[in-house]
Amino acid sequence: MACIFCQIAGGELPASIVYEDSECLAFMDIHPLGRGHVLVIPKHHARQVTELETGATQRLFAVAESILSAQRRLGWGLDGSHILLNDGKTANQKVPHVHVHIIPREKGDSLKSAGKLALHVTGVFGFATPRPRLEEQASQLRTELLTQCNRRQT
Ligand code: AMP
Ligand code: ZN
Repeated sequence: MACIFCQIAGGELPASIVYEDSECLAFMDIHPLGRGHVLVIPKHHARQVTELETGATQRLFAVAESILSAQRRLGWGLDGSHILLNDGKTANQKVPHVHVHIIPREKGDSLKSAGKLALHVTGVFGFATPRPRLEEQASQLRTELLTQCNRRQT
């Protein structure tokens, strides 16, 4: 059976999609560690970075960078963000398909964030964020990415 991120990439599992091209897919993390937490994945299955084709890691981080900019324009993570890739089980990778986290942080959220991070590390994760909220954030990011793209073309 395909891994959950392959199922998302194949449209077999629901996800709130932020960005898609021929190689990469970005969607909202269902257990966000900060407001508007996004994951970027390669569409083809690879468990770890060393299994990716040449250039694929750079592509993932280029997409992550444009999502980071879009989040900042929306006012998310203005004081800082994590751009994070857990590569391998020992490094806390729970889903065995390469993914980059873009996690906006807010001043004073350390305690809340540490509690959620502890849940992530155990793999328990806690309650999923309701889909309408994820859809709303994904829609805001899509609009912002489109604006970014239009600005670059003019
Ligand atoms: P990691 O610990 O780096 O493997 O992170 C896996 C991430 O995938 C966690 O932040 C989870 O909240 C997230 N996740 C797991 N299942 C889903 C899903 N169906 N949709 C969106 N995010 C998910
Ligand atoms: Zn996969």
